[in-house]
Amino acid sequence: MRKNIVAGNWKMNNDLAASKKLANQVAKLVKKNKVKGTKVIIAPTFVNLERVAKATKKSKVKVAAQNMHFAESGAFTGEISPKMLKSIGVKTVILGHSERREYFGEDDALLAKKVDAALENKMDVIFCFGEVLEDRKSGKQEHVVESQIKNALFHLEAKAFDSIVLAYEPVWAIGTGETASPEQAQDMHAFIRKTVANKYGDEVANEVSILYGGSCKPGNAQEIFSKPDVDGGLIGGAALNAEDFLAIVTAF
Ligand code: PEP
Repeated sequence: MRKNIVAGNWKMNNDLAASKKLANQVAKLVKKNKVKGTKVIIAPTFVNLERVAKATKKSKVKVAAQNMHFAESGAFTGEISPKMLKSIGVKTVILGHSERREYFGEDDALLAKKVDAALENKMDVIFCFGEVLEDRKSGKQEHVVESQIKNALFHLEAKAFDSIVLAYEPVWAIGTGETASPEQAQDMHAFIRKTVANKYGDEVANEVSILYGGSCKPGNAQEIFSKPDVDGGLIGGAALNAEDFLAIVTAF
């Protein structure tokens, strides 16, 4: 079902003490501000996931992993399986982040396998995609986004979209301080919804949540989230500060 969602991707930041502290601060602020109608998710690094999940268990804040392998177990040194995540109570995973694509060579085919594994394990997926600056400069952004979505997701049955959240993250806006304008975000989100509708019909397209990510902060979240096809944000830098993150959570 379409929901407002704000998810904080902590990336490779925060040791155990800092992770617990930030998670507790976020949970406290969410409670104090009586946040309603917006799902709040935080994604700490793997080693701190279990402790953060425990620290936020009694709160409305949910925990997600930043990545996972597609296999259940086996000789994949350094990797984490869906089963392992579920064993510590983590039921949501971010897949396809541009940093995974760029620095770790994750491509659409691999991401399709990861999405399948998550769904087989009854996990929810926040699926990220977005164009690089060159694509936008040459007007190819829609083509790029469409193929990323098609290649990784369009083998799925319509039902799978109950467990998928789409996150449009123009790579040129991630961690750069440069944000897509609210109009650019809306145009792309409407295009994404139309792409989903063309394949699965209006009902599926209207029910899928589409998040924006890319230098979203307290000063611009409200305007971006006010656009009709923007259902929230995937937040990097600003999620590392509890007050800033809360300001984004309450920006709807
Ligand atoms: C991200 O990495 O998903 C992201 C949106 O980062 P930032 O908010 O720092 O641009």
